[in-house]
Amino acid sequence: MPRRHRMLRRIVMETEPLLMLPGPVPVPERVRLAMARQAINHRSAEFGAVYADCVRCLKPTFGTENDIVIISGSGTAGMEAAVANFARGRKIACLSNGKFGERLFDISKRYGEPTQLASAWGTPLPLEDLAGSLEAGAEVVTLVHNETSAGILNPAAAVGRLCRKHDALFIMDGVTSIGGDVVEADRWGVDVAIVGSQKCLAAPAGLAAVSISERAMERIADERPYYLDLAAYRKNAKKDPMETPYTPAVPLFLALREAGLLIEEEGIESRVERHHRLARAARAAVDAWGLSLFPSTDEHHGYSNTVTAVRLPEGTTDADLRGHVKKLGVIIAGGQDHLKGTIFRVGHMGAVGAPELLATFGALQAALGRLGCRLDGDGVAAAAAHLA
Ligand SMILES: *Cc1c(COP(=O)(O)O)cnc(C)c1O
Repeated sequence: MPRRHRMLRRIVMETEPLLMLPGPVPVPERVRLAMARQAINHRSAEFGAVYADCVRCLKPTFGTENDIVIISGSGTAGMEAAVANFARGRKIACLSNGKFGERLFDISKRYGEPTQLASAWGTPLPLEDLAGSLEAGAEVVTLVHNETSAGILNPAAAVGRLCRKHDALFIMDGVTSIGGDVVEADRWGVDVAIVGSQKCLAAPAGLAAVSISERAMERIADERPYYLDLAAYRKNAKKDPMETPYTPAVPLFLALREAGLLIEEEGIESRVERHHRLARAARAAVDAWGLSLFPSTDEHHGYSNTVTAVRLPEGTTDADLRGHVKKLGVIIAGGQDHLKGTIFRVGHMGAVGAPELLATFGALQAALGRLGCRLDGDGVAAAAAHLA
């Protein structure tokens, strides 16, 4: 290859790697450009309209008619706000089968009296124990809908039914399902749901949106955090024009509005269908190679439709595999905590489609081949069969 072309190729790969992570995800140009403008006053009709657009576009992704407030902070700020405002001093049942379920338990320890109802990462949750906990007086339940660390989809509707039966508040981390998979917060009885901007919404990192039911508001703690007082966020969001209590990350709101408009233009049903198709393609590739998906599912639990977790084949190290894939311009994720070196994870959420999925599985197939893995078949062809 002529030197100039080689340089060009290197530059392209070094400046624009394809992020196939379970967040952050590639941000569409329209969304990025929305941030490149002069500062605006956050106490103005103009900002109020931006906030209102964000909320309007987010409601269908949550499946809610409840109020939604937006916090300047990552998904974890939304998780902490939910627990600190609605679970303070209460008995909390924390369902956990992965890193983010554990995080909700850790946050709950700071504010209330949690019991962890845990199963091994990526295995079905102990739903029987939840009924017992609720009978024993748990007032709040936390669940991660799509457990990103293990690629498992947890049964939010079933958990919501149990919460309603026992009149408990239901806090759901929807950080990697909202905007990418079916979420019916109102139908499922979710009182508080949380999403982060850099996942399925395909916006830049730094905002968390939290939906709040009337039932949750009736039970909000008297003693609340100062910066993350959700009663204050809700009160300010009800002003005309809409406001936040303190100066928000205005450029991120501008970007989120644009990301929301893209979601509105695509339509949430089509968007979810696109994510489902990408997930089927990813699983078909893994299957064709003869590799194994990481999670174990049952009639209540499914495979994630936004991130696919795969067991590393024997004799392959995480560093080698992800290193080779990276040389081909694609960034995928490894395992977290004790799963480091055991699994790799491919995010397929946000604004990505067939080209990105095929590039990723092409790079993976090439890397696995280079590392001497004997693959059963052509995963790229198997994926492609689902995409056209
Ligand atoms: C990414 C993620 C979060 C939030 O993480 P932040 O780094 O704070 O944005 C929470 N829950 C799940 C399931 C996630 O995937």
